[in-house]
Amino acid sequence: MSDTDNDYCLIDVTRPPKADGPPYAACVLCQEPTEYPESYKGITLCPVCEWREAERTSCSG
Ligand SMILES: [Zn+2]
Repeated sequence: MSDTDNDYCLIDVTRPPKADGPPYAACVLCQEPTEYPESYKGITLCPVCEWREAERTSCSG
């Protein structure tokens, strides 16, 4: 029995706050609306690009 079962890939990412509603920031890659508030200063990625980036940058072994 262990309580560390879900530490297979710890990515040190500071996640922006989720927006409560529009306007949403545009994705920096595809300009689609993201889940982040427009006022967020930083890199905002839509769920699709975020997932792809996570795949690209995730630990590969
Ligand atoms: Zn995108």
